[in-house]
Amino acid sequence: MQKDLTSLLRDPNLIPSEKQNLLSEITAQTETLGMPCYVVGGFVRDLLLGQPINDLDIVVEGDAIALGKSLVEKYGGNLTPHYKFHTAIWDLPSSFNLYPSSLDLITARSETYSQPGALPTIKPSTIEDDLRRRDFTINAMAIRLDGSHFGELLDPLNGQADLEEKAIRVLHPRSFIDDPTRIFRAVRYEQRYSFILHSSSFTLISPESLAVIQTLSGERIRHELDLIFEEDNSHQMIVRLGELDVFKWIHPELRAFNGEYSDFLEMDTSLDVPASRTTMGYMLWLMDLSEAAILSIARRLNFSSDLTHSVWGASQLKKSLPFLVNSKPSVWAFALEKLPLLSIYAVYLVSGEKALLDYLSFWRHVKSHTTGDDLKARGLEPGPRYGEILTKLRAAWLDGEVNSEKEEKELLNRLL
Ligand code: ATP
Repeated sequence: MQKDLTSLLRDPNLIPSEKQNLLSEITAQTETLGMPCYVVGGFVRDLLLGQPINDLDIVVEGDAIALGKSLVEKYGGNLTPHYKFHTAIWDLPSSFNLYPSSLDLITARSETYSQPGALPTIKPSTIEDDLRRRDFTINAMAIRLDGSHFGELLDPLNGQADLEEKAIRVLHPRSFIDDPTRIFRAVRYEQRYSFILHSSSFTLISPESLAVIQTLSGERIRHELDLIFEEDNSHQMIVRLGELDVFKWIHPELRAFNGEYSDFLEMDTSLDVPASRTTMGYMLWLMDLSEAAILSIARRLNFSSDLTHSVWGASQLKKSLPFLVNSKPSVWAFALEKLPLLSIYAVYLVSGEKALLDYLSFWRHVKSHTTGDDLKARGLEPGPRYGEILTKLRAAWLDGEVNSEKEEKELLNRLL
């Protein structure tokens, strides 16, 4: 089916008018510089699917860094050039008022892989070569924007036909061996759009390509998993990765995601807990593993110390629940206060333990009226007694043993 790309490119429901204006300004500049200019990848895919565009993926045949410099000269903002990759990031002037507030400018290039799983070697080239370096046919289309070429579709690998067939198809048989992060990407697109990995590509997910996952850096694998947890269908994506036997190549102790936890991936907390879909995803996935397995997987995937702490904290809390059940509120509060709030929330979701919800909603906010300054004013020598007394006062509030400022004062008098 031939689509009228010119009208899709001008549809404000698909591309907000501010972004259309930005594209026109960039295109005008590439015309001055004599560089053919294209939108590529996800932009074209989503436009043809009639879905709103997120990122402007812009490629020029020529020199993206020179383009960036001339844009900064004309419109302002800042440029960060990456000479090795022939790319530049343009931090847009604030007057553009656009989100995201920066834009990647890419030089059309060819790529070669020196060894499986390594990052590719890059050379400036034509748009056709640039499309041939990509992951899937549906991501390997371009629309030209400059001059009389506005709206021309370049589709040398038949991406449009695969979009219509709802097929994810790699561009050549070595694709997953060159870069097995594409296995994760295939699963993400498959589940996001309800497409199917084409049988000819499916058979390429073989022990040979899967084994290359072992050579990928933790950073690169985690980046793909992060992208998955940010998606609406992340549970189906993780299940599909499990079906494809991916986990054991990441880490021998990585298990399937517990299906009973899948609903909790949808973060909808009204509890004033800092939300993060990715952190929630890793916590739910890993919390039932042993401490040693969690720490080893965290090292393999190069988790930040915060993420490791959250997952470890959720796991420790879940394991200690049987010892805390039926404790007084103060016992809960003192046990929980060193743990990340999101870890507590995750364990609440999977266990339904009401004390955890009470802690998140009320108990964590309970404090005594008396402060350290008050104790000083009462003549107490500075030392560990301060902490002890304030803790006792707080515990008394939490456990309902004091219920007013007056009762707190009376307790304080007894303690001093
Ligand atoms: P989305 O952000 O919606 O997942 P996108 O297509 O914008 O989709 P990006 O990750 O921003 O995805 O990548 C931009 C383009 O770069 C892709 O459309 C694809 O053509 C290409 N690309 C990204 N990762 C790879 C890869 N591992 N191998 C080959 N090409 C890739």
